[in-house]
Amino acid sequence: MTRITLVEGDITAQQVDVVVNAAHSSLLGGGGVDGAIHRRGGPRILAECRELRASRYGRGLATGRAVATTAGDLPARWVVHTVGPVHLADEYEERAELLASCYRESLRVAAELGARTVAFPAVSAGIFGWPPADAARIALGTVAAVVAGREGGPEEVRFVLFGAEMYEVFAGVGRELG
Ligand code: ADP
Repeated sequence: MTRITLVEGDITAQQVDVVVNAAHSSLLGGGGVDGAIHRRGGPRILAECRELRASRYGRGLATGRAVATTAGDLPARWVVHTVGPVHLADEYEERAELLASCYRESLRVAAELGARTVAFPAVSAGIFGWPPADAARIALGTVAAVVAGREGGPEEVRFVLFGAEMYEVFAGVGRELG
């Protein structure tokens, strides 16, 4: 059984196998959690990202997809980079599906790596403007559905929420979903 846990904190400090990055599609870094991961993780992560851009993702990583690099100087072993959708009310359904896909694809890549512990930020809930409670519903609902009743999944999927407000939103949605 996989435990789904919530902590308030900085994802770059987590002692886990996989840290998920809410990456820019360029894979070349950005603001928010992406900036923090590259700052704290050092230049090796960016070097691997450049390599991936050159070899496999000439046009960038598509929204909803995920790809792994090693984790440089972070305490984690790998970073799984996923590209969340920008929130756009007019295209809610397809974009919500893309956000769910970020979680599914990241967990698939983490499983391929043999990760036992995976930490997620609140993908799309920062610069990409997703309303926090809805981002939390999609995040928690999707991860719960992936790990439900599955043997051999990770031991822990940890949501690392930046700031007390985001933590409270996730905790509230977690209580709603049981
Ligand atoms: P996006 O572009 O997908 O919205 P952001 O990085 O802007 O990505 O924000 C995603 C979430 O990550 C936001 O809730 C933001 O506050 C949070 N965040 C920013 N820095 C960190 C960090 N070091 N650890 C965990 N979460 C972070």
